[in-house]
Amino acid sequence: MNARTLEGLAHATPAYVKHTQLVAWVADMAALTQPDAIYWCDGSEEEYARLCQQLVDAGTFKRLNPELRPNSFLACSDPSDVARVEDRTYICSAQKENAGPTNNWMEPAEMRATLNPLFAGCMRGRTMYVVPFSMGPLGSPIAHIGVELSDSPYVAVNMRTMTRMGRAVVELLGTDGAFVPCVHTVGAPLAEGQADVKWPCNKTKYIVHFPETREIWSYGSGYGGNALLGKKCFALRIASNMGRDQGWLAEHMLILGVTNPEGKKYHVAAAFPSACGKTNFSMLVPPAGFHGWKVTTIGDDIAWIKPGADGRLYAINPEAGYFGVAPGTNYHTNPNCMASLDKNVIFTNVALTDDGDVWWEGMEKDTGSLPAHLIDWQGNDWTPEIAKATGAKAAHPNSRFTVAATNNPALDEAWDDAAGVAIDAFIFGGRRSTTVPLVTEARNWTEGVYMAATMGSETTAAAAGQMGVVRRDPFAMLPFMGYNMSDYFQHWLNMGDKITASGAKQPAIFCTNWFRKGADGQFVWPGYGENMRVLKWMIDRIEGQAAGQENIFGVSPTYGELNWTGLDFTQAQFDTVTSIDKAAWQQELVLHTELFTQLAHHLPQALVDTKAAIEKRLNA
Ligand code: PGA
Ligand code: MN
Repeated sequence: MNARTLEGLAHATPAYVKHTQLVAWVADMAALTQPDAIYWCDGSEEEYARLCQQLVDAGTFKRLNPELRPNSFLACSDPSDVARVEDRTYICSAQKENAGPTNNWMEPAEMRATLNPLFAGCMRGRTMYVVPFSMGPLGSPIAHIGVELSDSPYVAVNMRTMTRMGRAVVELLGTDGAFVPCVHTVGAPLAEGQADVKWPCNKTKYIVHFPETREIWSYGSGYGGNALLGKKCFALRIASNMGRDQGWLAEHMLILGVTNPEGKKYHVAAAFPSACGKTNFSMLVPPAGFHGWKVTTIGDDIAWIKPGADGRLYAINPEAGYFGVAPGTNYHTNPNCMASLDKNVIFTNVALTDDGDVWWEGMEKDTGSLPAHLIDWQGNDWTPEIAKATGAKAAHPNSRFTVAATNNPALDEAWDDAAGVAIDAFIFGGRRSTTVPLVTEARNWTEGVYMAATMGSETTAAAAGQMGVVRRDPFAMLPFMGYNMSDYFQHWLNMGDKITASGAKQPAIFCTNWFRKGADGQFVWPGYGENMRVLKWMIDRIEGQAAGQENIFGVSPTYGELNWTGLDFTQAQFDTVTSIDKAAWQQELVLHTELFTQLAHHLPQALVDTKAAIEKRLNA
């Protein structure tokens, strides 16, 4: 079925839509973008199957071998449309200073004048999908609703997996519920009779947020973070503004539950930059020596966190699925994820095997050998010989899977709980080959906020641009911050004060680095499941069962405080990943100073004071 045969449904607003303002907005946007048809997504299984088949017929999807990968599809994008585009992402607040120095900004009226001609007629020849979605369990006091209008059926089917999508959301909105309007186009209108390409997109791209009016406009890209507007655009950039105004937090964090052998359960929210292991950590399988310990997943990418009546912080995962990085995922690094991917998956930009299954770099660790032949993500033949000669990757380094959370065998029983889970600890972790120790606990909330604010990380393939460059990535939020970064630091300090004022205990704050390298250039810490050893130490700290030792900016474990059962990791190796090199830290603090100079406007004095105290200890 192609878009035009859906036309029977065109312009027919379903009877269950009772929201005049929503209907009027859809009509306005249709008048601007001029789609051939309007189709309201109901979120049903039948609809998902129908749209997937439509994508197969259009050549966008390839249906994978149903025996090997039931009900699963592979989409290969245009080679120019494979990652988030940070330099094309804008926060268009009324005042430039409210976007802050870390965001691209344009005056809202000027941006609207730029976008209007681009959006005029941009959906010609296509269907406009109306995609109502809830970020968070329907009706949860922590959840919020959005409606995305998109001319991409790829977006519609991905949004069904990534969010609670469809008719139930419209019914919850009723006649006048609040929603965040999100408009998306691939920016490739079709002239009468013009054949479509398998991955329409436009060289010109704009990912635009209007924080005051809580609107999102996305032009020219069909790729994940640029096009699935519930995720980074709403759940982080717009939601961070809502959180500042309403007293809550929208964070780039996984949420996990960890249960000890006595059955006591803790909840941890952890921020790491994109492609630094959030999905793996959230699905961690405890190693030998941790009998009776269990880790369960609440979320793998985003946390919305609100204070509860008892003053503690309660977190939900606003998403309903995982849009994770495929390469590197295998039965050693993330067995729960591999199990999640056995059916009902949309893969984007991975390689195709000769028997109609998928493959990506890292899977050879499971099978012990490379496949003899593949079709790579760009549609070219791939063999180990070609790869050796040209360095060609079979899967794009930022290739992805889209899968429902309910596929995850380690899913937490409270993952869909409207009340959320009470957070016991926060973790902030960067990707650093040097300098930053394996784990450090902040001595107090302010020191924790300082660690998070000054976090550095080496760039990855999740965003277009150079890889492996250390940049400051405060709270792992640099690409996702919807307002002035220094005001956000102050918001975090205020949240800490509020918890204390309510009489509740503040969550502990830790900073980690799994990525220190040795002289041979190899990672020293084994990571993945072995990170349980660090997680257990954090819980010991919360329970007052590990003394640790103070360093210049917090408390780190002694070698003897970690459980080493089942792992051969010497004191010397431990020293390599925990040592604090004074010269490196002097250099690191220069970079903190640079960051603080950039963020000087509204920078909280408490953070300046914390830096001075660290400098003093360093130079003592
Ligand atoms: P992420 O990007 O890796 O930052 O989660 C996801 C995306 O591109 O949507
Ligand atoms: Mn992310």
